[in-house]
Amino acid sequence: HEISKIYYRGAEELQILKKISLTVKKGEFVAIIGPSGSGKSTLMNMIGLLDAPTSGNYTLDGVATEKMSDNQLATLRNQKLGFIFQQFNLLPRLTAIENVELPMIYAGFSSKQRREQAMNMLALLGMGERGHHKPSELSGGQQQRVAIARALAMSPSLILADEPTGALDSKTGEEVLELIMKLNAQGNTIVLITHDQHIAEHANRVISLRDGEILSDVRKTLQEVEL
Ligand code: ATP
Ligand code: MG
Repeated sequence: HEISKIYYRGAEELQILKKISLTVKKGEFVAIIGPSGSGKSTLMNMIGLLDAPTSGNYTLDGVATEKMSDNQLATLRNQKLGFIFQQFNLLPRLTAIENVELPMIYAGFSSKQRREQAMNMLALLGMGERGHHKPSELSGGQQQRVAIARALAMSPSLILADEPTGALDSKTGEEVLELIMKLNAQGNTIVLITHDQHIAEHANRVISLRDGEILSDVRKTLQEVEL
């Protein structure tokens, strides 16, 4: 609510987000669109608890986050949020399975639980045969599937995707988008950031950002969502 973000460049004050208020409901698939520099990734960093707003308050699953310590925020982030990035952000020295296990290591799962859950998630995403490969041995689309498996590993309340298809060719991007739509149809809440209007058309709510402000916020009826 009323989230603002100010960056300082020397003595210069740059207000990147201007009192943004926004509530995402369980089960929604929200696309946030806007031109380069409009503040999309900055907003995602706030929603994702990766960076703190300069002012305003943010409640995630009923938990007020303003007064939390960095440690508490990190735990909340790990429990409640799954991230998908343009550049996949996999650790290159780890296998696919080990990458998917990371959030579960942090949460203190036993190694047996972790391994089992990671292999299940990878199998669900059609990556069952690739678990022992390192990211460099996988295609872009396969790496993004591993990243999605990792995002899903802790059954997050909210999945945040910043340009998840940006580094993929159009066919592979389409497949990843379909996968994200399927996750939403299964009940996952998704916030997807993109500058691509065509990708946003698949969401059931489209929020348009301009210069750090919400220009429009449009909910579609179910029939209007392109399948
Ligand atoms: P893109 O589509 O290119 O990813 P975006 O909408 O995600 O753009 P942001 O990354 O949120 O845009 O950046 C918004 C503005 O904030 C830009 O003008 C950027 O230069 C500025 N900015 C982002 N991070 C910082 C920072 N750490 N310090 C200062 N300015 C920043
Ligand atoms: Mg960005």
